[in-house]
Amino acid sequence: MRNTRATQLLFEMSKPSCRAVQLPDCDVPMQPVEELLPREAMAPQPPPLPELAEPDIVRHFVNLSTLNMSVDTHFYPLGSCTMKYNPKRNERLASLPGMIDLHPYQPVSQLQGLLELLYRLQQMLVEIAGLPAVSLQPAAGAHGEMTALLVAAAFFRDLGRKRSVVLIPDGAHGTNPASATVAGFRALAVKSTGSGFVDLEDLAAKLDEQTAVLMITNPNTLGIFERHIGQITQMVHDAGGLVYLDGANMNAILGITRPGDFGADLMHYNPHKTFSGPHGGGGPGAGPIAVAEKLAPYLPGPIVVKDAGGYRLDQNGPKSIGRVRSFFGNTGVLIRTYCYLMTHGPDGLRRVAENAVLNANYLLARVKHIVPVPQGDRCMHEFVASGAKLKADRGIAAADVAKRLLDYGFHAPTVYFPLIVREAMMIEPTETESKATLDAFAETLFRITEEDAELLHDAPHTTSISRPDEVQAARNPILCWAAEAKTAP
Ligand SMILES: *Cc1c(COP(=O)(O)O)cnc(C)c1O
Repeated sequence: MRNTRATQLLFEMSKPSCRAVQLPDCDVPMQPVEELLPREAMAPQPPPLPELAEPDIVRHFVNLSTLNMSVDTHFYPLGSCTMKYNPKRNERLASLPGMIDLHPYQPVSQLQGLLELLYRLQQMLVEIAGLPAVSLQPAAGAHGEMTALLVAAAFFRDLGRKRSVVLIPDGAHGTNPASATVAGFRALAVKSTGSGFVDLEDLAAKLDEQTAVLMITNPNTLGIFERHIGQITQMVHDAGGLVYLDGANMNAILGITRPGDFGADLMHYNPHKTFSGPHGGGGPGAGPIAVAEKLAPYLPGPIVVKDAGGYRLDQNGPKSIGRVRSFFGNTGVLIRTYCYLMTHGPDGLRRVAENAVLNANYLLARVKHIVPVPQGDRCMHEFVASGAKLKADRGIAAADVAKRLLDYGFHAPTVYFPLIVREAMMIEPTETESKATLDAFAETLFRITEEDAELLHDAPHTTSISRPDEVQAARNPILCWAAEAKTAP
């Protein structure tokens, strides 16, 4: 399948004795390496490194960089992931010498500017969450989930209560049950109703003295705001449990409502989603968490505090769960987050949410006659369409539509998630897209559903790799180029 130059490996392009650099003749006496190193320190043969000229290397990597889709090159409606445009000025500000040339081991007196920025970011995240304490430490959303659950576990341990179960609605992101398990809890699913809300009867039946935490995503992964969120958080609190809000969908409610106000005790942010940090292949994330007052002593440090002497790092107190990451968190993403928040301000953030919801509803209205949206005519910042009818009538699967979209220059929506919708296509346009782009996407979707099913089964047709065998790729990955690895299990 690798037939174009851009998809050849450097190893395959190698030409013996080609070099990217030419060094002048040696002007000191040469000494064989065998005389300098003990025999056992040397490999039997030199490593099989590719040998190439500099232009070939540059072309290889530049060509590779154009094979992928990105928010900078294509519309990217990947539901749940919030692939909004990454403003370039945030990149520029985060790369100022005063930021990137800092070293975390410098004395705190030389880091006052960065610490002030992180302190103010903590304050802003407190305000947006409606929860009084923040740790910037976790390095991703899922890491924030795990960290917050460890905070909850420490809280119950301190109270002398043994609570071992984390309840999670069945539409939740896969990281929720994974984090609960890694943090030492037993994950138990709560059913959803046909309209996509938490089934309150099922929740009531599963709440008991073993319930530590309910992890809830609101708006949920169907793009619906939990109408009964006040009642749900009350039920969990009455049972002695805590409520965790998965904040991946915060961009739908920024400045409109706050997790702390509807009863959440802990939450994480995904700054690489909500606050426009580059992600996917584009960079690392962050997963700051915000918690209620009674949980603050358990947070991982360091936390930036301000006193008469300026800003300093408050290391872990006696009740803290301890470090979850080195230094001050993923500072590069946090600086971009700060720039994003300062650029928009409180009113601007509210407009971000309003436009995200408006764009999603516009697109929903444009596509629902092509791919029905089982959970209704209205959504928050994203919606989940079902290709079930398309599959039954024409044999076209959600995956076929997703792959064919690539031919037309659109990244695919998220497919087959959440699991509770058949042939799910989870579409999230984000607020940074224009009406023209949304129209073009809706028209393309329509065009694809009219195409020959056979053509769609083999799509994409214009990309350098068409349809890899995904099962084979997952079960039998080729992780290194050595010839024998191609046959290794
Ligand atoms: C993205 C996402 C997560 C996990 O966040 P990462 O930053 O990718 O680790 C959790 N829950 C939901 C609903 C998400 O969309």
